[in-house]
Amino acid sequence: MELFWHRRDLRVADNVGLAAAAGTDAGDGAGDDDRADDEARGDDADRGPAAPVFVFDPDVLDHASDVRVRRLLDGLAALREDYRERGSDLLVARGDPEAVLPRLAEALDAERVVWNRDYSGLARERDAGVRRALAAVDVAREAHHDAVLHDPDAIRTNAGDPYSVYSYYWKKWTDRAKEDPAPAPTGEGLVGADRLAEAVDAVDWGDSADAVADGGGADQGGGADAGIVTTDASVGDLPTPGDLGFSEPDAAVGPAGTAAARERLDTFLDEAVFAYEAERDYPGREATSRLSAFLKYGEIGVREAYAATEEAMVEAESDARPDDAPEQVEEFQGQLAWREFYTQVLFHNPEVVTENYKTYEEGIEWRDDPEEIAAWKRGETGYPIVDAGMRQLREEAFMHNRVRMIVASFLTKDLLADWRHGYDHFREHLADHDTANDNGGWQWAASTGTDAQPYFRIFNPMTQGERYDPDAEYIKKYVPELRNLDADLIHGWHELSPTQRANAAPEYPSPIVDHSERREAALAMYKRARGED
Ligand code: FAD
Repeated sequence: MELFWHRRDLRVADNVGLAAAAGTDAGDGAGDDDRADDEARGDDADRGPAAPVFVFDPDVLDHASDVRVRRLLDGLAALREDYRERGSDLLVARGDPEAVLPRLAEALDAERVVWNRDYSGLARERDAGVRRALAAVDVAREAHHDAVLHDPDAIRTNAGDPYSVYSYYWKKWTDRAKEDPAPAPTGEGLVGADRLAEAVDAVDWGDSADAVADGGGADQGGGADAGIVTTDASVGDLPTPGDLGFSEPDAAVGPAGTAAARERLDTFLDEAVFAYEAERDYPGREATSRLSAFLKYGEIGVREAYAATEEAMVEAESDARPDDAPEQVEEFQGQLAWREFYTQVLFHNPEVVTENYKTYEEGIEWRDDPEEIAAWKRGETGYPIVDAGMRQLREEAFMHNRVRMIVASFLTKDLLADWRHGYDHFREHLADHDTANDNGGWQWAASTGTDAQPYFRIFNPMTQGERYDPDAEYIKKYVPELRNLDADLIHGWHELSPTQRANAAPEYPSPIVDHSERREAALAMYKRARGED
């Protein structure tokens, strides 16, 4: 018997650690030692069955938001159904994993606790604590590479250093062989629901509730204040957001779970992928996969997603598709590689969560005007494409990639505000918030990150809107004040006189800053920071 600890891998299929714990991966290579750490690796033939558990950890909830708690609960409900269909269930525990996991392992008589690696600094610290707690009670532990196709140490420069330039990373990433999806366990590889219920009844929580209340993060501020101060577990009982100290979000967070992820991927690979490169920058078109939240919560395995793109590539290379179809599919595979690039940046540089990647940019004197930042957050800057993006974020807990770049450039290079304000806001409102990707995106926009492009890349919000939303479809969808205006008027909003604006759309604000002036101010700010003025 083994305990499988779900974290950001809320799926049964193509789950490397789960397949190993359930004994499903024997003989197919998915459980090779290079994908597991070397602690107490078992003989595949003797593995399983696995008892799956998710632990609501107060320290993790301290960094969560209404949107993400809702999205997480939806993902867990879908995961639970997938287990129930297999005659098993999901153990749901609350408390510090260091207290919870050893006790659950004991009650289940599990010889091993298995999980998939999470690469952020905080997650690694947590996992080190769990390892120590399990070692203290003589329970074996095993961690697998699962969240990415190539683990963060696997791809390095010829000199042995981690990559800091995506284009070189991509070259190596794309040349490397990819693993097949890990097989999903059947009911035989999983502990039955009745046995799980018996184990939960048998757990001796001892003084762990006090330990969590004293040492955990429940009383350290953040959304989890009203949340977990006890340690407990149940079979399949999911808490409400209120139980965890959160509220229902205003935004619609979208569907969750493996079935919904597969449906979305299939739909995208049926048609849109063959025009992905050409169309992906237009926010008014449904040209991207919208898989990001599914990938973030691990509701679809990245090996499965990649294998599906390889099938699309076969079709792209057939006569049925235009000559440039293979490049379009490859561009999409390139986005999966961006995700892995930023994962390895975070893994090798955990401090980037709060610090600039380029240390020589530390001296930037951000302007940080609270009113301007607040207008940006509300989507009331008077720059239509920026405001549409910020409102999409509030309504859908999502924003189109091109628009993320535009609003991030606007915050840092028009408002001259520290990228960390934007990162925190995105972290609160994005359902797909992923520490590595979000941070990578923000530091790229602020020219403090890994990007080879220097600081003088400053997006012009008017020309960006005109180019990528020519008919203003996207803008009109999220900015109702502008719905009755012609696209020309919308894209020329900054050039209108106050009277013209008042006549055209009295509810919509005038631009809060002058882009040309701020562009010059931004260039001067970066030059000063770099000692170039
Ligand atoms: P698609 O275009 O269909 O791409 C497929 C997948 O590839 C995405 O789901 C995502 O997993 C990955 N991907 C795509 N673009 C990128 C990228 N530039 N960097 C890393 N991975 C990428 N992505 C997140 O997943 N979470 C975030 O918190 C996040 N924050 C961002 C913040 C900023 C300022 C910027 C500029 C980008 C951010 N991105 C983030 C990257 C990108 O905007 C989203 O992944 C994308 O918009 C999601 O839509 P999609 O699934 O339709 O993407």
